[in-house]
Amino acid sequence: MIGDVTVISGPTAVGKGTVVAELRRRHPQVWVSVSATTRRPRPAEVEGEHYLFLDDAAFDQLIASDGLLEWATVHGSARYGTPAAPVRAAVAAGKHVILEIDLQGARQVFQHLDGVRSVFIAPPDRDALRQRLVGRGTETPEQMERRLVTAEQELAAAGEFEHVIVNDDLGSTVGRLVDLLGL
Ligand code: 5GP
Repeated sequence: MIGDVTVISGPTAVGKGTVVAELRRRHPQVWVSVSATTRRPRPAEVEGEHYLFLDDAAFDQLIASDGLLEWATVHGSARYGTPAAPVRAAVAAGKHVILEIDLQGARQVFQHLDGVRSVFIAPPDRDALRQRLVGRGTETPEQMERRLVTAEQELAAAGEFEHVIVNDDLGSTVGRLVDLLGL
């Protein structure tokens, strides 16, 4: 699949969701993939907008039918994956395609797709990451501890990416992304 595809990854709670939302606000022409997940919706999350919320059987079926470009179990709990058909259609339509996915998914995409642009969003420091994770307040202490362990491992993977952006300020992070994408 040759086209303009950008994988955006980074440790959990680094703020990549916010970065992508702001990118889309400034440049509505970018096409952001909506992932499928077996995670339960959080309050205010909208089906089909934030995620496609699926049960285990429906997710299994997507995998079996080769319907996912990549998928992974994130934080040892829910499964997340990128539906392949919408991405192919967006690439074919010449859109700037953004995949905001975890590191395991990013590695699968690098293996399977040529010519993908890769961006790692890094926290300014580890304390900032911990504070963000605490501040979000949506996880239990056990879930949070597991996410912190995952985040530490993920930080070590920055070198696998073509570009690293330190997310110290939302505006400048998005500005650098805009430059990378040539928007
Ligand atoms: P959350 O549950 O907070 O929405 O997301 C948890 C993690 O799942 C984030 O690190 C996010 O990047 C990752 N994620 C979201 N969608 C996908 C996907 O389609 N594939 C993979 N591999 N990870 C995803």
